[in-house]
Amino acid sequence: MVTLALSKGRILEESIPLLERAGIVPEEDLAKTRRLIVGTSIPGVRLVVIRAADVPTYVRYGAADLGIAGRDVLLEDGGEGLYELADLGIATCRLMVASPIDEMAREGARSWTRLRVATKYVRITERYLAAQGIQADIIHLYGSMELAPLVGLADRIVDLVSSGRTLAANGLKPIEHVLDVSAWLVANRAAMKMKYEALRPVIACLAGSEGNER
Ligand code: ATP
Ligand code: MG
Repeated sequence: MVTLALSKGRILEESIPLLERAGIVPEEDLAKTRRLIVGTSIPGVRLVVIRAADVPTYVRYGAADLGIAGRDVLLEDGGEGLYELADLGIATCRLMVASPIDEMAREGARSWTRLRVATKYVRITERYLAAQGIQADIIHLYGSMELAPLVGLADRIVDLVSSGRTLAANGLKPIEHVLDVSAWLVANRAAMKMKYEALRPVIACLAGSEGNER
């Protein structure tokens, strides 16, 4: 049995056509079903649908042999015990630092305090700020980062941006590029050794060719 873990949300939407092109057709409509484990048209290949941030954990412990996860999630996780096999080129966006459009008006008010940055990506943000030599307090949030500057919780946010419309709707603008994000195919390291013959065709189908492997 080969188990492939998929991230709910944005990545799932873009994974379904990729799976179908690869000839891996889910037995149920993944957008509608309440089931968390779904078989596919390929005997012995099943899908599990989980929160994006949980994909590295399932794959690390071998509960899933393969997974599709954003580079944002993989970097934040650290990727221990995982092979990053191929960039699937789906769910592309950018991780950006954003600040209020009228920051200059507010700057004076906070100039004697440390910069506060709200984000879901604490590790990536810590590393990014340290590399710039910037001292800041990082505030860990689980979502709706755009709200934080509006209510005085933070001066800046680090969040995913695609069109920039959500930022603009909340009076924010992207100011620095942290990371280009897309979804990657990852594998459990032990499974790549013990179950390679079973995984190989699935990897080949999803990654286009094994030449994409790193
Ligand atoms: P929720 O938003 O419901 O709290 P989540 O943040 O875990 O859940 P998504 O927003 O669907 O789920 O994000 C999952 C993954 O999809 C992200 O880790 C990222 O790799 C990718 N992603 C997120 N937002 C975008 C976007 N605007 N454009 C493209 N890909 C995105
Ligand atoms: Mg989200």
